[in-house]
Amino acid sequence: MRLGALEAGGTKMVCAVGTEDGKILERISIPTETPKITMPRLLQYFKDKEIAALGIGCFGPIDLDKDSDTYGHILMTPKLPWRGYDICGYFREGLKIPVGFDTDVNGSMLGESTWGCAKGLDTAIYITVGTGVGVGVIAGGRLLHGMQHPEAGHMLIPPRKDDVYAGKCPYHGHCLEGLAAGPAIEERWGAKGKDLADRPEVWELEAYYLAYAVTNYILVLSPKKIILGGGVMHQEQLITMVRDKVKDMLAGYLHTRELQDMDSYIVLPSLDDNQGIMGALKLGMDARKEWEEKESK
Ligand code: ADP
Ligand code: ZN
Repeated sequence: MRLGALEAGGTKMVCAVGTEDGKILERISIPTETPKITMPRLLQYFKDKEIAALGIGCFGPIDLDKDSDTYGHILMTPKLPWRGYDICGYFREGLKIPVGFDTDVNGSMLGESTWGCAKGLDTAIYITVGTGVGVGVIAGGRLLHGMQHPEAGHMLIPPRKDDVYAGKCPYHGHCLEGLAAGPAIEERWGAKGKDLADRPEVWELEAYYLAYAVTNYILVLSPKKIILGGGVMHQEQLITMVRDKVKDMLAGYLHTRELQDMDSYIVLPSLDDNQGIMGALKLGMDARKEWEEKESK
């Protein structure tokens, strides 16, 4: 079965065709402009690909409540032309195939839990640290949704005593995203993250905030694996620092098999940066399965 996958991001749209075993057969990338310009180009790409379903991992916030009138729409995004846009409906109409839909970071989580380092685990989290911070959660073997979807990237974090930066989040100032996403690093230190590689104090503070949040995620969700991805994690020194600080912050309170091997507990993504698009493929597969079950009734 051929399936379509779309990673819908704020700067680019990655479109791919793949198969049920997670293999990507082809892909293209299209810049994200307005829906009016971008959506017909995406439809054009998928139209003659003979796909049985489409999966979309989308930038948020999005409506994931299947009982809501606006299910499948993008919600209050700062990207104004996309606010309220019915992205799922557009493809359902245009392609007449089942469409699976979730957040981009849930897509990455799903990719890793289907084909990557979280395979077979019933509880795991994926954290992306990039332009924003997003968290995808697998709990009880399924992506966790709740009212909408977890927004753990906005977990409130007290600034470290020596940190006078007010934080970049327009809602919370110092939430994790406001303190530790790429744009916060850039504003606090006056240079882009990739140009700060030789400033140990930058990454020491970054690791502190990431570890603070990760420790809280561990205490709340008891994940069996923690995956840290996104552009900021390209700083290779970070992951080791986060592991060490999490260990300190847990302060010997928890004793599990997983925590005894921090190197395989807190990890970088395992799918060569394909976790998002592969997860979107799985969203498409699941939508197809759900549709088949409904049809057979
Ligand atoms: P997005 O979150 O927009 O999908 P990315 O995950 O690539 O995209 O994250 C982009 C952010 O990551 C930017 O703020 C950028 O400055 C930061 N970033 C990218 N590469 C690096 C790097 N090597 N070191 C530190 N920060 C980086
Ligand atoms: Zn916030």
